[in-house]
Amino acid sequence: MRTVYLNGSFIPENEAKISIFDRGFLMSDGVYEVTSVIERKLIDFEGHFHRLERSLFELDMKNPLTKEVLLSIHKSLINKNGVNNGLIYLQITRGSAGDRDFVFPDPETTPQTVVLFSQNKENLLDSPSAISGIKIISIEDQRWGRRDIKTTQLLYPSIGKMMAKKVNADDAWMVQDGYVTEGTSNNAYIIKNGKIITRAKSNDILHGITRAAVLRFAEEAQMEIEERNFSISEARDAEEAFITSASSFVTPVVSIDGQNIANGSPGPMTQRLREIYLDESIKTAI
Ligand code: PMP
Repeated sequence: MRTVYLNGSFIPENEAKISIFDRGFLMSDGVYEVTSVIERKLIDFEGHFHRLERSLFELDMKNPLTKEVLLSIHKSLINKNGVNNGLIYLQITRGSAGDRDFVFPDPETTPQTVVLFSQNKENLLDSPSAISGIKIISIEDQRWGRRDIKTTQLLYPSIGKMMAKKVNADDAWMVQDGYVTEGTSNNAYIIKNGKIITRAKSNDILHGITRAAVLRFAEEAQMEIEERNFSISEARDAEEAFITSASSFVTPVVSIDGQNIANGSPGPMTQRLREIYLDESIKTAI
């Protein structure tokens, strides 16, 4: 049985209980982070910590934990649960005021709820989708307007994933006003004329920690980058396509809405980016 962290204590998962009035449960009033673990080390902990602080700030919440404490909780979970490869999930909610009310409770009297747990994923590095690529469908983006905040409102992305599964695809890219925003749980990219194209940062997409790292490494490797909108039809005609996220790193996309991209196998630039990303991030893992 896993040991999890809840509000200051490490306890067995079946003893971790939160209130039915927790605003995370009643209103999705919470933020989260997912940090990958490779060979017992955390990938880009610093980046995830900074985004957590930003998400909390945007929702008028304080960060109840310092970076040092948070890092030591992550490390303890890796050790206690023997996580070689996998991830650490972190969630902070506005807590429970002991009742249901749209008005935010007074933070002085309502402590936030802090939950962390680990998930083992032994094949994190060599998952089948990294080797063969994934098939995606396009769907309308029906999420709210502050997608840059990493909240736990994940119902629409989850519905999108199910829409993909129903037609034997792996994931969905969401489209707003004719342009791709991002994947259900990842950022979206195409390669055209040898250039990496991805939507620019705004409130429309989550500012992926993996996105930032991949673009930095791509620039260092003299690859050209264009941060701009692209459509599904442009993506279908692209040379390559891929996604990035903390748990999938760089993963090739080989078909969109049932149509192959190029010859339907992972592209060389995507594979190179995956290698560079993994090499560089493992070097600085803590
Ligand atoms: N976009 C969305 C909607 C996501 O949920 C995620 C992953 N949580 C990402 C992008 C990728 O972000 P990161 O690289 O920080 O995992």
